[in-house]
Amino acid sequence: MDPSYPAYMDSSLMAGREIISIPCTISNAFVPELPRQKADIIYLCLPNNPTGIVLHRDELQRWVNYALENHSIIIFDAAYEAYISDSDIPHSIYEIDGAKQVAIEVRSFSKSAGFTAVRCGYTVVPKETGLQAMWMRRQCTKYNGTSYVAQRAAMATFTPAGKRGINANLAYYKRTAQIIAGGLTALGYEVYGGENAPYIWCKTPDNMTSWDFFDFLLNECQVLCTPGVGFGPSGEGFVRFSAFSQREDSEEALLRIKNGFRETLCVRPNLSR
Ligand SMILES: *Cc1c(COP(=O)(O)O)cnc(C)c1O
Repeated sequence: MDPSYPAYMDSSLMAGREIISIPCTISNAFVPELPRQKADIIYLCLPNNPTGIVLHRDELQRWVNYALENHSIIIFDAAYEAYISDSDIPHSIYEIDGAKQVAIEVRSFSKSAGFTAVRCGYTVVPKETGLQAMWMRRQCTKYNGTSYVAQRAAMATFTPAGKRGINANLAYYKRTAQIIAGGLTALGYEVYGGENAPYIWCKTPDNMTSWDFFDFLLNECQVLCTPGVGFGPSGEGFVRFSAFSQREDSEEALLRIKNGFRETLCVRPNLSR
């Protein structure tokens, strides 16, 4: 998917692979279309970083069917599963018929339990894929293991107290995402995501480039975002806002964006919408 989490692209290039990118733009509502060529490995990140989109069951079924027909493997990145709010969105690719034959699912504690830098996640490689022996060899050769302290911390997230703590944090971040999305919309911005993901994918005003708008927000408003083009060419003309912050800071950022435009004569958002 273009735009996408850069690790898929980087690791594939390092492995000497040919890349097929699938543009996810406003015109297709950021929903990836099936490639016409045969792809060996397909990365699907849902809910998506950076666009925040999710796929419905029938849309995901089309990808599983494609993988079954083309003998492809889907690497399903469910890092943001905990942010799904809509009740009819699948939380795992294994909810889809046939997925056990063609899908590997990766999960992380980074975004559900604030484990970024702590380093703990897990990978599901079903027997039906026929890849378990290969995965075992790969893990035993390349991986040094998760530290015991991190493992115990990850285990604690499954206890009743751990679940309560995590759910309180998730609710807080989800609400912050709504506040950011609502605030930007009220200021006239065109925003996507933020409903089933902690990210808000925001169209830059006046067709500014991602970096021009990033510089503007940094220098004129002292607000930090992520330039969309950093996620791939189709991310040009967007920036990503994150809800991983204190509520007051996000509210302050919205205020600064509002005032920043008022005080700067040279650049204004397109308020016609
Ligand atoms: C943050 C993130 C992860 C998690 O990576 P870790 O190495 O477990 O911290 C995975 N996928 C996506 C798309 C992410 O944004």
